[in-house]
Amino acid sequence: MNQTLEWRNQDTVVRVLGGYREIGGNLIEIRYRDKRIYLDFGYSLKRYKELYEWPRRKPKGIDELINVGLAPPVDGLYTRWINEGRKPDLEYGKDTDVYAVFISHPHLDHMALLPQLNRNIPIYIGETGRDILNLWNQVSVREKYNKYDGLVFKTFRSFNTIELDEFRVTPVHVDHSIPGSYGFIVETPDTVIGYTGDFRLHGQDPSLTYDYIMRAREYELDLLITEATRVHDVLDIKEKDVYETLLKIFSLTNKAILLDSSYIDIDRIRSIFNAAYKAGKTLVIGWRHFYFIYNLIEREKKFKLKIEKDSFKVIINLHMRKKKVYNRFIDTIYNKGFQLIDIKNLELSDNHIYLDFPNYIQYLLNKTFPGTIAIFSNSEPYDEESYLDYRKIINWLNILMIPSYRIHSSGHANPIDIKKLVNQVQPKDLIIIHSEYPDVIKKFLGY
Ligand SMILES: [Zn+2]
Ligand SMILES: [Zn+2]
Repeated sequence: MNQTLEWRNQDTVVRVLGGYREIGGNLIEIRYRDKRIYLDFGYSLKRYKELYEWPRRKPKGIDELINVGLAPPVDGLYTRWINEGRKPDLEYGKDTDVYAVFISHPHLDHMALLPQLNRNIPIYIGETGRDILNLWNQVSVREKYNKYDGLVFKTFRSFNTIELDEFRVTPVHVDHSIPGSYGFIVETPDTVIGYTGDFRLHGQDPSLTYDYIMRAREYELDLLITEATRVHDVLDIKEKDVYETLLKIFSLTNKAILLDSSYIDIDRIRSIFNAAYKAGKTLVIGWRHFYFIYNLIEREKKFKLKIEKDSFKVIINLHMRKKKVYNRFIDTIYNKGFQLIDIKNLELSDNHIYLDFPNYIQYLLNKTFPGTIAIFSNSEPYDEESYLDYRKIINWLNILMIPSYRIHSSGHANPIDIKKLVNQVQPKDLIIIHSEYPDVIKKFLGY
């Protein structure tokens, strides 16, 4: 069951209903008298994986999620599914006293519960976050009891305050391992609360997080809610170091390189692309990941990321020629001159880097050459289940006789940077969430 934490100041009550004493699954309720808003809407992915297994066992609605401890039992917050989970009941819960749900960033551990939300409650999210959700929904099939139909999204921009009756919510961008990440400052008539979401100070653009710090400091917060994902085994590696290490390895070998990274971590994608271009490598990528990156870059000119068509080969699956979105996309990139490879004919070539290789590692059986290496450039597996997934890829690499490197810089601040943030903001009180050891960090920060 979720551990919860309650904090009060006059008529304002904060309840941490998810993400307390665990990494992710953030869900925070802020109540002023009889009105409520929520910050983030995730559930514990670790707990989810302990109970469910796709495709054999999937959640069957919100009552079940509450019963197994994945969703907090809260009135007025959830929808009711009709037609055996094919549709949410749009009429259900019209008289709710919940004003809104605010999403800090589109990582699943902060929004996995959204399909269960009462359709009469609007969801506020940054513009980039909304674009990312749209792209996801275009390339994935949403299961029964897990559909987005009828959800009402509203977008916000940094520093533009949203007023909802007696709540005033000001989003301010922060730097994290996904674009479109925000912290919030929430004012009720008697209390000011800050929530950083997930953040770091060692990424490509720490000024984003410093903007949040400066603004939060002006408010003289009664309470700051912040994360402490990294408490032990903290490595001090910056995104710049990742770029330089990748470039060094890319330059040291002519052989094929297998590389796994998150495809929504734009900073990492930039490091990989730039290192590959500089080392004169060709990038090979699965169509689904390419669809996502290509469209996101097209939409968000601010990323200033270039896709050089001569540096890309896109793996397609000719057996998939059914999906409309897939057909249209393949036609588009073919017409733009990208080279396409049918997955059945996939070969490993010198001076090529194979992105998202775990998705097609089976097709590489009996096709590897001595000298090929693999690089994991994504988060360390931090729970048992993702550790097991990682072990499976290692097992495949052992069959293919390929050694592997890990080159990564975390999306989360290290303890000293958390201290920097808290010292500057100087909140009267502090809650640590998104952490397995909140008491350790609270003490470390002097609270
Ligand atoms: Zn998170
Ligand atoms: Zn995150």
